[in-house]
Amino acid sequence: MNAIVADVYEHKNLINGVWTEASDAGMINVVCPSDGLVIARIRDSDETEIDLAVDSARNAVENGSWSRTTATDRGRMLSRLSLLIEQNATELACIEARDTGKPLKQAKNDIAATTRYFEYYGGAADKVHGETIPFLNGYQVQAIREPLGVTAHIIPWNYPSQIFARTLAPALAMGNAVVLKPAEDACLSAIRLTELANEAGFPAGCINLVTGTGERAGAALARHRGIDFLSFTGSPEIGASVQAAAARNHIGCNLELGGKSPQIVFDDANLEAALPVLVNAIVQNAGQTCSAGSRVLVQRSVVDELVELLADRFSGLVAAPHDEDMDLGALISSTQKSRVDRFLECAADIPIAAEGQIAEDAPPGGFYVAPVLFSPVPPDVPLAQEEVFGPVLSCIPFEDETEAIRIANSTDYGLVAGVWTQDGGRQMRVAKALRCGQVYINCFGAGGGIELPFGGVRKSGHGREKGFEALREFSQIKTIVQLHG
Ligand code: ADP
Repeated sequence: MNAIVADVYEHKNLINGVWTEASDAGMINVVCPSDGLVIARIRDSDETEIDLAVDSARNAVENGSWSRTTATDRGRMLSRLSLLIEQNATELACIEARDTGKPLKQAKNDIAATTRYFEYYGGAADKVHGETIPFLNGYQVQAIREPLGVTAHIIPWNYPSQIFARTLAPALAMGNAVVLKPAEDACLSAIRLTELANEAGFPAGCINLVTGTGERAGAALARHRGIDFLSFTGSPEIGASVQAAAARNHIGCNLELGGKSPQIVFDDANLEAALPVLVNAIVQNAGQTCSAGSRVLVQRSVVDELVELLADRFSGLVAAPHDEDMDLGALISSTQKSRVDRFLECAADIPIAAEGQIAEDAPPGGFYVAPVLFSPVPPDVPLAQEEVFGPVLSCIPFEDETEAIRIANSTDYGLVAGVWTQDGGRQMRVAKALRCGQVYINCFGAGGGIELPFGGVRKSGHGREKGFEALREFSQIKTIVQLHG
């Protein structure tokens, strides 16, 4: 039983522009990962509230003022929201850090990225054009881009504010009305951002937020016959179930489901330049990042040198409460900590090259895991194949380019990859041979790059978010053929 802080606030859902408790659904405790204290309560919403939210979105997109809002005005609203987020950045970062356990400096970066998403899509909203298509004599053909209608968005707890922005901003830019179900483990920034969206002037019904568990509110939203598209970020298991629900309603979906992203270090790489990037790619957000660089594939001739450098960094890393702003914070929940602990137990026979520490003053109720560097890791064990979602890095040696590509492509995932080499030909050969959605050469971009199309293959999901690709994803082409004689 978690202790409760004084004056715990009970949040409501936003449905049709009103903060409401439309059914007698219970409440869920929101726990701060840094100390295990209950800091707020959110609604454990049920099907009734999801129904109302979807109806409200339908009305907004078909009859409400949202349906008549021009692309330019949608862009202005998104830009206003971006400014409001910037003005409230400190408060939002504090909410995010406390709700997720991530260090405050990282939460500040997340809020800066959230601001940028709304800025980017605010500017893009009226720059998406249709086409005219040459056809037979006497015909005029236009391919116009229309909103999908009501889009449902189910998001996770690891980057709540950024993913709120990543998925909602392009959907709103294209004129859809949205229903958002944030994760029960961290949704306070999504609630605050929704309040700011109201302030920015989005009309009632075009943004609806319903909190609750995945099994109840999430599943009710995913299977709802009133939605036209489903955007999901989360685990592969739930991704498969929401995709099945979407298929039963014959609607499209995009899925972003995580990864086991490799960083491939060849023997001609600049190791000093690579080092901080390799470490950050797994330590950021305590490894709870879909695009975390959780495997370092290193050419055998430089294994000893690189592992020594990495071990030196790892042994200095400290996990601490979010407000101490150390290298990493607690994991999101006791469930997530147990999951990571199980991976570590299963890896008992794999050599540990270095371990970081948990701060001595870290509250015992927090969900801390010290960073661990394993080396050498055989490429086919669970540690090298499955997503740990914790601060755990596996070093895997390889002989040559062919073997590096084979190992990199050997997991079921394919989201992001890094290639470290000075050889230009090899950079491009390897980038093209990797089965994934993004490749970074002599750099790595876990979670970054609003402008850069992002998404995966196979168990990492499908569809592309970010950049202009997201605007295409959240709209559809209608072809209009006119015979004018
Ligand atoms: P994780 O294991 O990282 O928590 P999940 O895939 O369980 O990832 O959760 C991601 C999002 O999916 C959360 O908002 C969660 O509430 C939601 N979710 C979980 N189970 C279901 C489900 N059966 N149907 C729809 N959404 C779900």
